[in-house]
This record gives sequence, C-alpha cells and structure tokens, in this order.
Amino acid sequence: GKRKILLCGGGNAIHVLTSYIGSRTDCDVAIFSTFPGEANRIRDAIPDEGIHCVNDLGEEKYGKPVQVSDKADDVVPGSDVIILAIPSFTHKLYLKAVAPFVQPGVIIGAMPGEGGFDLCARYVLGSDFVDQSNLFALETLPWACRIVEYGKRVEVLGTKKEIDVGISDGKNNSAKSVLDLLQQLIGPLPILKPACNFLAVTLMNINSVWHPTISYAFYRNWDGQPFDEPPLFYYGAEEFTGEKLAKVSDEVLSIRTKIQEKYPDLDLSSLHHVREWMLTSYGDDIGDKSSIHTMLKTNKGYRGLTHPTREIRADDGTRKFMPNFQYRYFTEDVPMGLCVTRGIAELAGVPTPNIDDVIMWCQGVMNKEYLVDGKFVGHDIPSTCSPQAYGFVDLDDFLRANKYISP
Ligand code: NAD
Repeated sequence: GKRKILLCGGGNAIHVLTSYIGSRTDCDVAIFSTFPGEANRIRDAIPDEGIHCVNDLGEEKYGKPVQVSDKADDVVPGSDVIILAIPSFTHKLYLKAVAPFVQPGVIIGAMPGEGGFDLCARYVLGSDFVDQSNLFALETLPWACRIVEYGKRVEVLGTKKEIDVGISDGKNNSAKSVLDLLQQLIGPLPILKPACNFLAVTLMNINSVWHPTISYAFYRNWDGQPFDEPPLFYYGAEEFTGEKLAKVSDEVLSIRTKIQEKYPDLDLSSLHHVREWMLTSYGDDIGDKSSIHTMLKTNKGYRGLTHPTREIRADDGTRKFMPNFQYRYFTEDVPMGLCVTRGIAELAGVPTPNIDDVIMWCQGVMNKEYLVDGKFVGHDIPSTCSPQAYGFVDLDDFLRANKYISP
C-alpha cells in the first residue's frame, strides 16, 4: 500500500515537501499544523492540481495533501513517516501533540534537526520509544526556499549539493533503509550522507555559526543610525567576519577533539570546519574559494540576502531600516544553536572565548542572559535547547543518557 507521510508545520519547507512528496504515486501526504488558523488557510488555498514548486534544477512539481488538519487525532494515526520541517523552537510543541497517536517503531525526524532534536525527542517521547523508532535529523534544510503564493506556489532558490543526516536504527527499519527512503522523498539532490551520530549533527549546525557571528561582526561598530537600505548579510561581510567565523568554528572542532580524546570510540568525524561545509554544500556556486570571507561574498546562493530589518519612517518621511534582533537569526540560532554548542563546551571543559564574544553581544541585543562572567549559568538557560536546559551537568551522563556512547 501507500506510505502515509505526515508533514508538521505549514511554512516554506512544508510547501516544498508537499509539492515534492505529493507528486509521488507511492505516498499519501498529510499536513498537521497547530498554528492558529493555518490548517484551514492552507487547505482552502491549495488548488486541485496541488502546490506548484519550481526549483533551481529546472524541475516543476505539483503535489497535493490528502488531508490537512490542526487536530492530531484526525491526522496523526497511521502515519509511517513524520517530518517536522519547522523552526526548532516548535519541535517540543509538535512532538507533544503527535506523541499520543504514534507507536514505537515509527520513522520521525526533523529537517533541519537543529538544537539537538534527539534530546528533545527523548525528553518528550521517552528514551525507550526513541530507541525502538527511527529518529532522523538533517543538519540543515535541503533547500533555500520561499513561498511565492501561500498554498499555491513555492520556489526553491537553491538546492544544496550534499548534507549530513543523523539516523538511528529502529525495531522496524534499519537506518540505511530510512536514509534511502528520505532520499527518494526529496529527490536526487542534495545527496544525503549518514552523519556519525546526532551529536555530530548538533555541533555541525551551520546557522548557529553563520547568523549570530556575521551579525556580531557587522554590528560591532554600528553607530545606531538607521540604514537607507537593508544591508547585505553575506555579501556585506568583511575580512574580520571571515576570521571570526573561522575562530568560532575552530572552537567547535576543539570540542570534538576534547570529546574524542576522552571517548575514542565516539566518532565525530562527520563534523567539519565551516570552510569545508561551505565547499561541500555549495561547490561551484562559489566564485572565489580562497577564504571564508571571499566564499561568503561570491556564493551565488547568498546573493542579495540582507540583514533582517524593520522598516521605519524618518522625521522627513523617508523609508529607513533598523535591525530586527527578534528575527530567527537571533531567537532561534542563539538559544537553539550557539548556546547548545556552548553548553556542550561547558560539559567538556573546553574554553570558547570567540563563541563567548558572539553570545555576549547577542544576549545584549536580545535582552537575554546566557553567559555570566564567562560561565554558562545565565537565567535564560532553561529556555535554550542546551544540555543544561535538560538538566545535564556532567559530560559522561550526557553522552550515556543520549546513547552517544554505550550506557
Ligand atoms: P517558516 O518560518 O516558513 O515556518 C513557519 C511555520 O512554523 C509556520 O507556518 C507554522 O507551521 C510553524 N510554526 C511557527 N510557530 C508556530 C507556533 N507557535 N505554533 C505552531 N506552529 C508554528 O520556516 P521555513 O522557512 O519553512 O523553515 C523551516 C526551518 O528551516 C526553520 O528552522 C528555518 O530556520 C530553517 N531553514 C529555512 C530555510 C529556507 O530557505 N526557508 C533555509 C535554511 C534553513
């Protein structure tokens, strides 16, 4: 029979997935969104031919869900595969909503699976459930994509070349068979490569390195004056930006080194420097590969992308732009990104002065407190996805409880 694929959410990524998977004859797609009003809005908007997706590979697809609902009991039962393609701050909410209607052995995962999706799943679904099921987490979304017309048309601006996926064996399916299935669902590109484990996926979170660090590097000398145009995010990077990104990434790799010294059997070899990540993800879309700085400024996939801003009116009535520090580059990529890495560094006893510079600046503009005097003990830690937010204070406990090493 047909496989039932449940898509959780209703944003850009869900539009692409609905179109891609809905165009297949061997699957039924259902959409589950708890966002107020969204399920009705999307159901009403989708035309008979389905959501139209055009991608950068020159393909066009039309796909339609068989069911769209905001009620878990309507839509979740019978799902073979559950895909969360939503911002990570909503992972817990959706996992809690689906939990009563899924059986151990299900295939469930997130794209992207940032912020330690496996920790969240163990917390919500329970460790036994997770051990019997196939959990998966993509290190990043396979595409840069934007809805063109809600419920009708979506555009894939850039398809990644290759991405890492953490997958566990379950009682019904091997990790390998799930990897093959996911590859079929998203199509030939990007090539999905098995990551060593979920810890490597968590530490590889590119958004947690790129977004806070590039913002910090750009705004560190800002005079507080509004901009005439939203400034370019990647193409506006300076040499300092590239150097700071390299240092932040070096610190992530020193966490890897420290953990591997203590636990030689724990493989983290799929965790790479952001320099390598950029080359494997974007390949020849990058014009000048000589440094991180030049790669940021010559990557076709990054062309035209701007710093998140809010429009304001100047006294003379002209349009101006102020930074938007409430955007997901901060609200998601710091607490569910860089803070997760920082928390793991804390457990491993690895100093991270460059990551700390970035977090300190970010927490200032976000009005949050994660670091105090260089220690990861701020009062906003419970709202992060760091190990500390789940109560872990010891590296060994953390690694065993999450099955990164045998119990
Ligand atoms: P999106 O902003 O379009 O997703 C928003 C959706 O999340 C909403 O439509 C809703 O379904 C759900 N949601 C948000 N808040 C909710 C709430 N309070 N309750 C219930 N549901 C809620 O995101 P996207 O562009 O589809 O991206 C998904 C993830 O992929 C994000 O984490 C994003 O950072 C990441 N990402 C996106 C892109 C891209 O090009 N779109 C690229 C790389 C990574």
